[in-house]
Amino acid sequence: MTINERDMTAFIAREARRYFPELYRDDGPEPPRIATPDAIRPVWNGFETPLPARPATYNLTPRDIEAIRSDFPILKETVNGRPLVWLDNAATTQKPACVIGRLCDFYLRENSNIHRGAHALARAATESYEQARGRIAALIGAPSPDTIVFVRGTTEAINLVAASYGQLAVSAGDEILVTELEHHANLVPWQLLCRRTGAALRRIPVDDAGQVDMAAYRSLLSPRTKIVAVSHVSNVLGTVAPVAEMTGMAHRAGAVVLVDGAQAVSHMPVDVSAIGCDFYAFSGHKMFGPTGIGILYGRQALLEAMPPYQGGGNMIDQVTFEESRYKPPPHRFEAGTGSIAAAVGLGRAASYLSEIGPGRVYRYEYALLNRAVDALRNIPGLRIIGNAAEKSGIVTFDIAGYDSDDIAARLDREGIAVRAGHHCAQPVLKRFGLEKAVRASFAVNNTPEEIDYFADTLRQLTGGMRIFPAI
Ligand code: PLP
Repeated sequence: MTINERDMTAFIAREARRYFPELYRDDGPEPPRIATPDAIRPVWNGFETPLPARPATYNLTPRDIEAIRSDFPILKETVNGRPLVWLDNAATTQKPACVIGRLCDFYLRENSNIHRGAHALARAATESYEQARGRIAALIGAPSPDTIVFVRGTTEAINLVAASYGQLAVSAGDEILVTELEHHANLVPWQLLCRRTGAALRRIPVDDAGQVDMAAYRSLLSPRTKIVAVSHVSNVLGTVAPVAEMTGMAHRAGAVVLVDGAQAVSHMPVDVSAIGCDFYAFSGHKMFGPTGIGILYGRQALLEAMPPYQGGGNMIDQVTFEESRYKPPPHRFEAGTGSIAAAVGLGRAASYLSEIGPGRVYRYEYALLNRAVDALRNIPGLRIIGNAAEKSGIVTFDIAGYDSDDIAARLDREGIAVRAGHHCAQPVLKRFGLEKAVRASFAVNNTPEEIDYFADTLRQLTGGMRIFPAI
């Protein structure tokens, strides 16, 4: 190691201690940072009390939000000389200092491969990795950490189920039901499975508000249905699907249910036991965690019956040249060296979300959503797609006469990050007659003032006022 590298190490360690003091406390259970009890308890589809149509007040005070915002170092950045306004949370969320610090700390003090090697760092790293699994299980109401499989993200989780459970349970003549709302990650793996097996893919339509057509769903279910795949929250429309009701119906027809929770976990209470689903998939980077890590929750009995997805180290009990005996789940599905530090960081993100309280997050984001919808509604030519009764903090729209990419580029000039394009969900955009659209997506670290700034900027853009230099 050169002097410079040594200096750098000391610097990082010092800085990590300064910025992330909580990491240097005992790593036991973290106290809730906001004292008010979380009133919302998840039930079948999220909430036991209906949300008010127009919440008059925000359930988080400006001081609460300021405290939350100060957890995210990147929110102090400027873009094009303006404060960064991050409204691209559905693509990825920003990372709080505690998660960045946990990653740093892992590499500074614990780095080792896991589940192998009888030395102190291997034990420390294994303990942190397994502790993360437990924290994630607790966040989503999973009955045991053994039902939590670390994968790369939602995409890999769904591919795992399609390959492994698909091989076990799907054959020619069977049917797989997928809603019209799905991200390509919850569509293409099922297309591939159908191609491999001769099964048929059936589309569950959505109504004009963007809600799952439950009557059509009921009529599509039959003894041929083997799998139902549905997103908990649409990444385009923000629709919250009635996943518990859909699961009950599928189970009565003898099918298993996979819920794509990529857009749900950091935005609302999720309780996989209350939903009753067989599989639940989500990504770390969309819930304040690192990229390259995600989760497949699976019902224990199903995971135990399923063949491995990939073969290699870590997932075997015994290997001879002729055959191998596999470990029980979840390790059976974690072949090779995974993203250990990222898993540990994701565990910290799960604790961070629990500290804030997912029910509180949902109510707050719902208030932001209503503010955005009210403000955008009056902009001439602007059309919001998706108006479901239960909807999370996503607003997707187009403006007559304007190109979506152009709108996003102009907002970017004002420091506002939104997404334009097909959002990896071409069928649902097509359902609403669009090729592409603009999407603003909120998180608990956004403020009402940011929503107003976003809406005002859009209004000025469409009003032709010359606040934007020509592109
Ligand atoms: N499902 C939904 C609903 C999503 O919004 C996304 C990403 O935007 C995915 C799946 C894919 O997630 P990842 O790319 O993290 O695997």
